[in-house]
Amino acid sequence: MKRSIYLIYTRFARKRTRRVGVMKKSCDFLVVGGGIVGLAITNELLLRGCNNIIVLEKEKSLGAHSSGRNSGVLHAGIYYTPDSLKARYCIEGNRLMRDFCRENGVAISECGKVIVADSEEKLEGLQALQQRAQRNGVESYLIDEKELAEIEPHAATFEKAIYSPATSVFDPMGVLEALSSRIKKTGKASVLFDTAFVRKKNDRVVFTSAGEIGYGKLINAAGLHADVVARQFEVGLRYRAIPFMGSYRELTKKSTYLVRGNIYPVPDPRMPFLGVHFTRSTSGRVFIGPTAVPVLGRESYGFLEDLGLESFRFLYRNASMFVSDSGFRVNALSEVKKHLGSHFYSEARKLVPGLLPRHLVSSAKTGIRSQLVDWKEKKLVMDYVVCKEEEDTIHVLNAISPAFTSSMSFAKHVADILLEEEAHQAQ
Ligand SMILES: Cc1cc2nc3c(=O)[nH]c(=O)nc-3n(C[C@H](O)[C@H](O)[C@H](O)COP(=O)(O)OP(=O)(O)OC[C@H]3O[C@@H](n4cnc5c(N)ncnc54)[C@H](O)[C@@H]3O)c2cc1C
Repeated sequence: MKRSIYLIYTRFARKRTRRVGVMKKSCDFLVVGGGIVGLAITNELLLRGCNNIIVLEKEKSLGAHSSGRNSGVLHAGIYYTPDSLKARYCIEGNRLMRDFCRENGVAISECGKVIVADSEEKLEGLQALQQRAQRNGVESYLIDEKELAEIEPHAATFEKAIYSPATSVFDPMGVLEALSSRIKKTGKASVLFDTAFVRKKNDRVVFTSAGEIGYGKLINAAGLHADVVARQFEVGLRYRAIPFMGSYRELTKKSTYLVRGNIYPVPDPRMPFLGVHFTRSTSGRVFIGPTAVPVLGRESYGFLEDLGLESFRFLYRNASMFVSDSGFRVNALSEVKKHLGSHFYSEARKLVPGLLPRHLVSSAKTGIRSQLVDWKEKKLVMDYVVCKEEEDTIHVLNAISPAFTSSMSFAKHVADILLEEEAHQAQ
């Protein structure tokens, strides 16, 4: 009898705590977001001897958003301008993630990738990419059609293609699980699932869905919502987010022989997307995609999902960008067309001419990137943005592709900033 009264009381108390938010915890480091960026930063802090870390994750399980919904390609660092954070972190991140997969038994296939030119016009873009890869110090080779046939017998190109041996595919969910169990094992950090950052309360205290939490330093790695969290700290005010949905199709089991590794087109340099490509996953399934269509909700994975007042803002932002940025306009028109099966097929067939409509089936796989726009300039932000704020908070914004590949290198950089400051304060 006593036990049942106790259970009723504790259930009531738990509910009440959630509603009024009286639970008070404190930690040295509070990480908002348990995607790959948040987990990699937590792991790096632990490796450097930090303690008492809380990770807030609003979902009930790992990988509900970008980190569990991507192509699983470990990029080599070919595309990014040499002075960019993307180039810096992607190249080192590729090596670190490869080592992590090997050491932790996470599936990885070091299959390489080719980038092909579907017309004479694209040849110039291909050569520019090869020069960029060389400047970035990334191993890549300009190959001819005969050499391409040896690597990818069913791919086609106009005269030349790029071969990147350092590109691999891996299992992103496997990485998330391995990282989270490593974090748990230390006993020095905990991931609180089903617990959302709600808003800032005052200096070094935030409201969460499970009550107040005090912190020494806060790391915002909230992915699709990172700009919203940053605004609470008056950070990143010049940026606005536009969500872009990526959907995929798949090759039927019988036609997976058409692709051995990764076949990519030459991307439009004005856009941060790489174009529809073929990727053979570690399970042997071959995905084609992702598209990059603007959607009206940050988590709008399905028709009419996650629509609300903010949708009007996204509509307005899309319309403004459509008018002011020619690259955005061209991309929007061509991407929307890709939702028509016939257009998607004809784009894919440019890379693999033997592809037939019956080789393609639809796929449930979808993912959303929250792309930042510099609203003053009305320009898409091509690089990652890391903002440090006086109140001991650091904000990782625009963690778009290849942020999974880059995550472990990124984490080192964030830890350097956080701990360097701590060392100064201790002096
Ligand atoms: C279609 C697609 C294909 C891609 N392909 C590749 C690829 O092949 N290779 C590559 O390197 N990269 C790829 N990327 C990019 C990569 O997946 C992302 O850049 C990366 O996963 C971002 O990680 P993240 O931790 O910042 O975000 P997320 O994975 O979105 O994690 C953020 C987490 O924060 C949580 N959160 C948000 N708000 C709150 C809050 N208020 N309180 C608590 N928790 C909160 C979310 O629930 C989420 O789990 C792709 C992305 C997409 C969408």
